[in-house]
Amino acid sequence: MTPEAALERVLHCFDRAYVTGHRARAVARALDVVRSTTPDELARRAEEGSLTGLAGIGDTTAEIIAEALRGEVPTYVVELERSTQVKVSAEAQPYRAALRGDLHVHSTWSDGSTSIRRMAETARDLGHEYLVITDHSARLTVAHGLDRDRLCAQLDEIAEVNAELAPFRVLSGIEVDIHPDGSLDLDDDLLARLDVVVASVHSKLALDAPAMTARMVEAVRSPHVDVLGHCTGRLLERRAPSRFDPEEVFAACAAHGTAVEINSRPERLDPPADLLAVALAQGCLVAISSDAHSTGQLEWQPLGCERAAELHVALDRIVNTWSADELLGWVAA
Ligand SMILES: [Zn+2]
Ligand SMILES: [Zn+2]
Repeated sequence: MTPEAALERVLHCFDRAYVTGHRARAVARALDVVRSTTPDELARRAEEGSLTGLAGIGDTTAEIIAEALRGEVPTYVVELERSTQVKVSAEAQPYRAALRGDLHVHSTWSDGSTSIRRMAETARDLGHEYLVITDHSARLTVAHGLDRDRLCAQLDEIAEVNAELAPFRVLSGIEVDIHPDGSLDLDDDLLARLDVVVASVHSKLALDAPAMTARMVEAVRSPHVDVLGHCTGRLLERRAPSRFDPEEVFAACAAHGTAVEINSRPERLDPPADLLAVALAQGCLVAISSDAHSTGQLEWQPLGCERAAELHVALDRIVNTWSADELLGWVAA
């Protein structure tokens, strides 16, 4: 384990345990320092015990670097591996075991912190067979959303990563913004080129219920939309769920073959259980997605599995328990 890999692993463990704040920032800063320091200098300083002389390296990160350079797995990493495991209940475990991919993942192309390649390698190491890269569309400027040109460039990179990581598959996709009138923030020809399209509301969340219902129904009936992302837009303890007629929206999802996402992010857990029950009663398929913005967050799917387990969702109704070929057959149908 190189010092860089050790610090990356620390960040991964922090992310999966939702540790943010100064501890995470200190490690991210140390990682930058390691990346911009020559291996010779790191080795010399580790030998002399002067790593903390580098601005941005503290006692903890110095020890991690020194242990890694000695060829050991740093004690700090060993401890974090144990203490930050994402727990899975006995009820949710069969769901997690059945998942073969993740349909909602961000990369550095929009507001994620990690490259497509590292997200894909991490998903593979978690046991997945495929991953869909769904960065934001252009309208979400705060998230550096993708316009036509950048999306086309991303498709080239996805093809390269696919060639390197086969048989693991990176599928193309987007998290396309749903405009207030229900139209989508990407041209149809591009939507048609992508493997999987997740459509989500990110703006004007306080529309009245009839307008929000019409907006969502218009979006999910698009032949290009495969998954309705985090349908209420709620953020636990921060933002109330948006209001819409769930019977009508989920009936439209079922009629048009759009799966309803169970968003696994701890601050979202969207839809809430009562709405998920409505979606299931309407006959919807579901996708259990991480909405990861970093490698550690790819480990959040068990939280969505807990929601599915509570409502006894049949495994074959969860589209990411299907193989990549079955999934692609479904989106093309
Ligand atoms: Zn979103
Ligand atoms: Zn997202």
